[in-house]
Amino acid sequence: MIRTRFAPSPNGLLHFGHAYAAVVAHDLARARGGEFLVRIEDIDGTRSRTELVPEILADLEWLGLTWDGPVVFQSARLDTYAMAGQRLIDLGLLYPCSCTRREVADAARDQGPDGPIYPGTCRGRHAAQANEVAWRLDMARAFDLVGPISWEDELAGPQRCSPEQFGDVVLLRRDAPASYHLAATLDDAADGITTITRGQDLFAASQVHRLLQALLGLPVPVWHHHPLLVEADGRKLAKRRGSPALADLRRTGQDGRALANELRAGRLPAGLSLGNGVEPAA
Ligand code: GLU
Repeated sequence: MIRTRFAPSPNGLLHFGHAYAAVVAHDLARARGGEFLVRIEDIDGTRSRTELVPEILADLEWLGLTWDGPVVFQSARLDTYAMAGQRLIDLGLLYPCSCTRREVADAARDQGPDGPIYPGTCRGRHAAQANEVAWRLDMARAFDLVGPISWEDELAGPQRCSPEQFGDVVLLRRDAPASYHLAATLDDAADGITTITRGQDLFAASQVHRLLQALLGLPVPVWHHHPLLVEADGRKLAKRRGSPALADLRRTGQDGRALANELRAGRLPAGLSLGNGVEPAA
C-alpha cells in the first residue's frame, strides 16, 4: 500500500508552494487507496517555531486535506538520530569537523548543490567531543562500502545514485540533533513512507538519502519529485518575498478547498508558474 507524507518545517507560515506540495502528496496517496501522513520537521532549534504548528494543521484542514494517524514530530525522535549517527561513526564513515562556514567557503574549490564543497580539511580525524563538532560523511569511503546504487523517480525514471556532488556532507550538526539529510531519511523509513514526494529543487538531495538508506540498511522507497510553484523570475516562492500566508487567506474567509482544486487543475495564482525551483548559480 502506498504511503506518502507532507513534512513541513515550522520555520514560517505555509504559502501557496506548500499548499501545492501538500496536495500532490495527499492526492497521490488517496488516488491509489493509500495513506497520507503529516510530519513536522522541528529540530532546527534556531529557526523552528512550535507556535506555528496549529496554524499549519489548520491550513491543511482548510485545504480539505485529511491525514492518517497522529501528526509525527521529529523532536520526538532524537534518540533514533543519535543511534544512527553513532552507528555510522562506528563504521568509520563519519569524521569530526570543527571548520567554520567561513573556513569552508574560503578553502573550497568547487560548488555543490548546497554551496561550497567541503575541501576535506578534517578528513581522517577521529577523536572528538561529539557535542563540540559537526560530523561529516566520508563520501568516498561510504561509496566504496556500498558500491553503485540506483533509485527510481516516478516522473524522471531510473537514476544512478550520485551523491558525490555534495562532497562530505554534515550528518550530525553542531547546533541541531541531526542534519536534514539524516533526519528525513530515518523518518521516512520509520514512517513506512513508500513514495517520497518532494519538490524538484531537492532532487539532488535525494541522492544523499539513497546512499544513507544503503549504509543503514533501510527500506528503499520510490521518489516523486514534482515541479514547484515559482515566481516570474523562476525563483521558489518565499514568504519573505511577499507570497501570502495561507493562514491569512484562511482568516479573510477565502475558500481553501477551492484553492486546492485550482492547484489540482493547474490553475495557479496570478504571476506564478511551475518550474524546478533550482536557483541559478550566482
Ligand atoms: N522539511 C522539509 C521542507 O519543508 C521537507 C522537504 C522534504 O524532505 O521533502 O522543505
